[in-house]
Amino acid sequence: MTEPLFDTIAVVGLGLIGSSVARGVKARGLARRVVGYDSSTQVHNRAKELGFCDRVANTPAEAVKDAEFVLIAVPVGATADAVKSVAPHLRQGAIVTEVGSVKAAVIRQVLAVLPGQAVFVPGHPIAGTEHSGPDAGFAELFDGRWTILTPCERSNEAAVAKVAALWRGLGSAVETMTPEHHDIVLAITSHIPHLIAFNIVGTAADVEEVTQSEVIKFSAGGFRDFTRIAASDPVMWRDVFLNNKEAVLEMLGRFSEDLAALQRMIRWDDGTALLELFTRTRAIRRGIIEAGQDTQEADFGRPHGHED
Ligand code: NAP
Repeated sequence: MTEPLFDTIAVVGLGLIGSSVARGVKARGLARRVVGYDSSTQVHNRAKELGFCDRVANTPAEAVKDAEFVLIAVPVGATADAVKSVAPHLRQGAIVTEVGSVKAAVIRQVLAVLPGQAVFVPGHPIAGTEHSGPDAGFAELFDGRWTILTPCERSNEAAVAKVAALWRGLGSAVETMTPEHHDIVLAITSHIPHLIAFNIVGTAADVEEVTQSEVIKFSAGGFRDFTRIAASDPVMWRDVFLNNKEAVLEMLGRFSEDLAALQRMIRWDDGTALLELFTRTRAIRRGIIEAGQDTQEADFGRPHGHED
């Protein structure tokens, strides 16, 4: 086995992302020791039972005091508080990183509380599931995915290289961009799709002519795939929309214009325009499969019974 990248890593927040990092770091020998911390007593106890950290600390101070690398994996709205809780206990030169789905607002909030002895490299692994909590994590979550790093005024080249090395060690490819660009890209690739899913599932629940049991029974007609996304963690997504307001509202404006154009195509029986749009969207799906970012199996590879 190659030399570990780090001696001690602290992971603050032991939910889906934090526990997946801890599991991946242990499985691939990327650090000699992983110390975890979570402010929830329930998660703390569960993390101890699951055993994916070498130690689950009782306090933020205990978690970070020996760590040269601190990864914060809590909801976007709690990130600055988590940094504040470890701030006085960070080692000289400690690298602090985080994984929030929004970057510009999180960076502003963290810079306001980051102590002088630490460097800060914000990041975002583009990997996840609709599940949350310590049981949902797994070591391979980041395999073949992308992680975006958005260096800021408190980053330095050596620290960026170390954070990149961690994500590459976890199987991820790494790209660097500005926080503002990240927020626009993710607004259209992740935040708006989630908003659409929350909205369609909410609308379906409120349509009076269709019963709840019909919605569930006939869900395979496209609706089911939206319900998977709409089952994502409510706290995480509340924080994403409140912290990426500008980019989300900008993209939502464009989305509404395109939706109005679609409405017009249907109203005016413009089959050519509909066909042209659906052909373009199909090509995007092909591109995602060719890039290895999803399976090409029909219906995402779900098992289907045959009636023969
Ligand atoms: P999660 O499963 O809900 O885990 C977050 C954990 O952090 C919870 O156990 C939470 O406890 C704990 N926590 C909250 N405040 C804390 C604090 N101040 N100190 C210590 N622990 C604290 O969430 P997740 O899905 O791992 O998401 C974590 C971050 O990753 C978010 O910023 C999210 O935007 C980002 N992210 C998520 C995904 C995804 O698909 N899920 C993908 C990429 C990035 P409580 O439950 O008591 O609050």
